Amino acid sequence: MLDGLFPLTFPPMQNPFCNALIQLDRAAELQAFSEEFLTLMRQPAREVEIAIPVTMDAGHLHMFRGYRVQYDDVRGPFKGGIRYHPDTNVDEVRALAFWMTLKCAVADIPFGGGKGGIEANPKELSAREMEQLTRGWAHAMADVIGPEKDVPAPDVGSTSREMDWIADEYALCTGHSKAAAVVTGKSVGKGGSLGRATATADGGYAVFEELRERLALDPETSTAVVQGFGNAGERMAELLHRHGYKVVAVSDSHGGIHNENGLDIKALSEHKRATGSVQGFSGAHDVTNAELLELPCGILVPAALENQITFENAMRVQAKVVLELANGPVTPEADDVLASRHITVVPDILANAGGVTVSYFEWEQNMRGETWTENEVFERLRERMSAALKVVWEKKEALGCDLRRAAFVLALERIEEAMRRKGSL
Ligand code: NAD
Repeated sequence: MLDGLFPLTFPPMQNPFCNALIQLDRAAELQAFSEEFLTLMRQPAREVEIAIPVTMDAGHLHMFRGYRVQYDDVRGPFKGGIRYHPDTNVDEVRALAFWMTLKCAVADIPFGGGKGGIEANPKELSAREMEQLTRGWAHAMADVIGPEKDVPAPDVGSTSREMDWIADEYALCTGHSKAAAVVTGKSVGKGGSLGRATATADGGYAVFEELRERLALDPETSTAVVQGFGNAGERMAELLHRHGYKVVAVSDSHGGIHNENGLDIKALSEHKRATGSVQGFSGAHDVTNAELLELPCGILVPAALENQITFENAMRVQAKVVLELANGPVTPEADDVLASRHITVVPDILANAGGVTVSYFEWEQNMRGETWTENEVFERLRERMSAALKVVWEKKEALGCDLRRAAFVLALERIEEAMRRKGSL
């Protein structure tokens, strides 16, 4: 499984790319994919690693490491976010690029999969340092990205501000007539789409609502816990709260808070903006991120990072449904434990595909010179998420497997078919 052209940087335990390949092997046990196809799927097509010089505000020069992994583009241009995090590394970026490839196939949008990373902590950088770092990444990557080649987007630690800088730098470097389409998740004034900022959670919520009926979930599922209070998690907490769910706990990188009677999410958002953390919110007590994952609830939404539910803590998870808004939050060993305890896991490549779906809408609008209304975007998103869930569900019923394996098999079938059509197999 681990033989390949690109060596692993980190040991297999807790290595997201190893987990991704285990998931691939598990799907391949259910369906007869050709060996050539599986060999292609075990390696990214290209990896680019760069050093980005930034003159820090203190006056000295600091070099930051940056990545772009282009996994597969048989279904369309590479597509995937850029993560700014001090602990990101090439194995993580590879795993995220692999999952993007499958996610675009599950959502049936004409993109392949890629991902970027910058080893930096945005919380410790000034706006000027962030701009130099981001423009440096875009400048160095200008030859390998592009509206028809590879289209980045925001991920952990990046927002529309960084995407606007990348679009601008790319335009300066290339003079491309549709330079805005080189990234998605831009601010609306710079060619971003209405509805993109909330799309990941909006899509995840749409999937959850459809699933609730299919799983015939009981009223106990009306309590929710959300790990991560950023772009995806905060919006998900807000949506659940608005639809009458009791959101009893949320967290961010500082830790979590819990109130079994439910949290006022609007007031919490204001508290987070004022203090920089969800902790210390009045009317709730602080909990650790580890404790938060083990609280009794109907729906648990990991919306932060990978490897949060592992073999070690899966036995203590008390949710009925785990909805993966984050990428890779449940390890393969934990999947087995949760399945044995009849806890449904809605896999990342389905649950968080709303983000890339509206990214595709943004790219389409940029390429065609159109502007869609928020309602139009939302309705199209709902339609696509509902269609994706329907086919994944049918696959699960046909194969008698869990939702993750079903989503993987569906995605792999679509990618293999595209490779055959294009003659790469
Ligand atoms: P973000 O940077 O906006 O938010 C991340 C949140 O997680 C922050 O609140 C941060 O404080 C918190 N966090 C970080 N480390 C944590 C830890 N150890 N424990 C608990 N919380 C922690 O990022 P985001 O865009 O919301 O992305 C979150 C997840 O969703 C990632 O896995 C990302 O890949 C995935 N995702 C995001 C999008 C998108 O469009 N933004 C789309 C698909 C998937």
